[in-house]
Amino acid sequence: MMKQFDLQSLVRPNIWALKPYSSARDEFTGDKGIFLDANESPFGKKNRYPDPHQRMLKQALSAFRHISAEQIFIGNGSDEVIDLVYRIFCEPEQDRVILCPPTYGMYEVSANIHNVKVISVPLTVDFELQIDRILTHSAKCIFVCSPNNPSGNCLQQVERLLEAFEGIVVVDEAYIDFSNTRSFTELLPRYPNLIVMQTFSKAWALASARVGIAYAGREIIALMDKTKPPYNVSAFNQQEALKALSKPEKYAYRVKVILEQRALLEKGLQQLPVIHRVYPSDANFLLVEVTDANTLYHYLVKEKVIVRNRHSLVRNCLRITVGTPTENRKLLAAIHTYSKEMI
Ligand code: PMP
Repeated sequence: MMKQFDLQSLVRPNIWALKPYSSARDEFTGDKGIFLDANESPFGKKNRYPDPHQRMLKQALSAFRHISAEQIFIGNGSDEVIDLVYRIFCEPEQDRVILCPPTYGMYEVSANIHNVKVISVPLTVDFELQIDRILTHSAKCIFVCSPNNPSGNCLQQVERLLEAFEGIVVVDEAYIDFSNTRSFTELLPRYPNLIVMQTFSKAWALASARVGIAYAGREIIALMDKTKPPYNVSAFNQQEALKALSKPEKYAYRVKVILEQRALLEKGLQQLPVIHRVYPSDANFLLVEVTDANTLYHYLVKEKVIVRNRHSLVRNCLRITVGTPTENRKLLAAIHTYSKEMI
C-alpha cells in the first residue's frame, strides 16, 4: 500500500475546479418523449446524440471485467485517455512526466502537444524498468506499457513503482489479452495512484471503431468524465463495442488463434539465417533482430508485406504483427527468399 495519496495535490487547479458542460442528455435521461432539447434534426435514424456517459457499454464491460462501472472511463481510443491524463494532471511548461523508451510513441507526442517536459529513463537491455533511477526524479505522472510495445514483454516491477512513486502511474495494457499475466486492474483497490488503460483495438478486433478504456478509482474517473468532450464516443462505436462484448467466445477464439500463430511465427522466424533473435512476446507481435533491418524492411515493402521498422528505437529490429495463418506463411516465405538472395 502506498504511504499517502492526495489526489487534489496532483490535479491541475483549473481542472479540479472545472464545472463541466451539462448537455441536454444530462438534464433529461429517459428515452420516451418528444425531444426538442438538443437542436437535433427530428428526421432519420441517426439524428440523436449518443449517451455521453456510455452507460450500456460501461455496464457490459463492468460485467465482463468484474469492475464497477464507476471505475470505467470510455475514450475515443486509448489515445484520448493519454491526452486526458496530461490535461488533468500536467500543467504545461511546469509539470513533468517520466517515460521509459523504447515504448509506445504517443506518450511522448502527447507530452509535446501539452508542452509537458519529458524525463526519459530508458528500459534496461532486457526491457525492464530502472526503478531506482525512476525514483530519483519527481514527476506528476509516469507511463509504463505492459506488455510493452515494441519489445512485447510484461514489465516485472510495476508494483514497486506503484508503492514508491509519488505521482500517477499509468499502466497501458493494450496487449494484456495476449498475455497469461494478470491485469493490474486487480490492484486498483490498493493503489489510488493507478490508472490502467486497455483498448478494443487489439484483441477485440475493433481498431476502426476507436474505443479505449481507462480503469481507475472513482475520483479519477469522474475527473476524466468531466474533462472529456461531451460526446467523445459515437453511438455507432459504442454499439460496435457492445456487440463485440456480447460475443466473448468469438474474442476468445481469435485470441487463441493469434497465440497459436505467434508460436508458429516465432519458430519459423528462428529458422531463418537473417533473423538473429526473436524476443519472447506476451503480445500480438514479435520484435525481431535481423542482419539489416532497413534493407529487409524495404525488401518486404516491395513484396507488399508491411512490417514496422523499429531500427531507430532498437538497433536492427523489426516489429511484426501476428496476422492470419495465410499472411504469416507469406511473410515467412518472403523472408526465406530474401535470406537466399543474401547468401
Ligand atoms: N497503447 C499501445 C501500447 C499501443 O500500441 C496502441 C496502438 N498501437 C495504443 C495504446 C492505441 O490504442 P487505441 O487504438 O485504443 O488508441
